[in-house]
Amino acid sequence: MKQFETRAIRLQTERSQHHEHSTPIFPTSSFIFDDAEHMRALFAEEAEGNIYSRFSNPSVREFELKMASLEGTEDAVATATGMAAIYSTLATLLEQGDHIVACRSIFGSSYQILTQYLVKWGISHTFVDAGDPSGWKDAVRPSSKILFIETPSNPGLDVIDLEWAAQFAHQNGMLLVVDNCFATPYLQTPVQWGADIITHSATKFIDGQGRVLGGVVCASEKHIKSIHKFIRNTGPSLSPFNAWVLSKSLETLAVRMDRHCDHALKLAIELKDHPKLRAVHYPFLPDHPGHQIALKQMRAGGGLLTFEVQGGLTAGTRFMDRLEMITITANLGDTRTIATHPASSTHSKLPPEERERVGITDGLIRVSVGLEHADDILNDIVQALD
Ligand SMILES: *Cc1c(COP(=O)(O)O)cnc(C)c1O
Repeated sequence: MKQFETRAIRLQTERSQHHEHSTPIFPTSSFIFDDAEHMRALFAEEAEGNIYSRFSNPSVREFELKMASLEGTEDAVATATGMAAIYSTLATLLEQGDHIVACRSIFGSSYQILTQYLVKWGISHTFVDAGDPSGWKDAVRPSSKILFIETPSNPGLDVIDLEWAAQFAHQNGMLLVVDNCFATPYLQTPVQWGADIITHSATKFIDGQGRVLGGVVCASEKHIKSIHKFIRNTGPSLSPFNAWVLSKSLETLAVRMDRHCDHALKLAIELKDHPKLRAVHYPFLPDHPGHQIALKQMRAGGGLLTFEVQGGLTAGTRFMDRLEMITITANLGDTRTIATHPASSTHSKLPPEERERVGITDGLIRVSVGLEHADDILNDIVQALD
């Protein structure tokens, strides 16, 4: 099998009669049948082919096959957003009466799916601490079907041992579902350690340039078949245009991630002794609690780092307002460096005691380190702190 970079660039499923070198785009809502019999056979699933772009589309399929190859899974199915990938996975695999064990530190909207919607249909959950797996056993019930985790987590950057988590899930009759958004398959491939299903927000590092929304689920053929059926019928399908953008983005994922990680590590090292900061968190800093696990399962530490400014909520918002170049915006994984203040934004809906438990202190700043020159990023942070 060819290397990651080569597959990310060369895996191309469709070429038109024009023999174009770059990947073509198929912006069409439906496809032509040769005759009535062809239409009948496609609807009866006796023949393979495209019917309607909510079901399948060549541009979308190319993105799916690339993602399956990069994650090392048998198949993949794309969705309109990362949340659609997570919701479609849970809604397909769970039934009334089932139970989920999930890390408390999952993405804010994932938390909402579990606590606001799945409970309405009799699907319950128990949250566990990413930083303390010794307590996870107590959360398991006979009805537990899924263990849902993110590593590194958002925004705590807790690192969970994927090999251990997969064993724990399987010993307790659960599937391991991993939101691999922060690491991308370039830094970490959870199936290699035994995970069953990988979800992504392709909106983040996969697009990497802040342009489109997208998501994808990577798993075995069997799981993807049933999740695809759910998507085909309920409608959160990826648009062909976004799929085309994302396929092109994958071509540069490796070089972009290398640079994101270089910049983030450099910043972490430069900032860790800054007098105005209480702490700097980055998985590849030796004093990070998950450092050894990160070294085992990740190629590099990722493009996100967090730090705690002294002085709580007011110091946090004041720091944000003093930034000159770095943007305040609700995204991550962009070429542009982005700062967020989780306590007052993405995680403001969490009750304050839950926030504290997942490490979101009032002064916590999350930085998605971009691809500008590293000195300019550092200088902006230092002048804002000063
Ligand atoms: C952004 C994000 C999501 C949701 O993705 P969307 O594309 O915005 O729907 C899910 N998980 C994590 C970790 C994220 O950062």
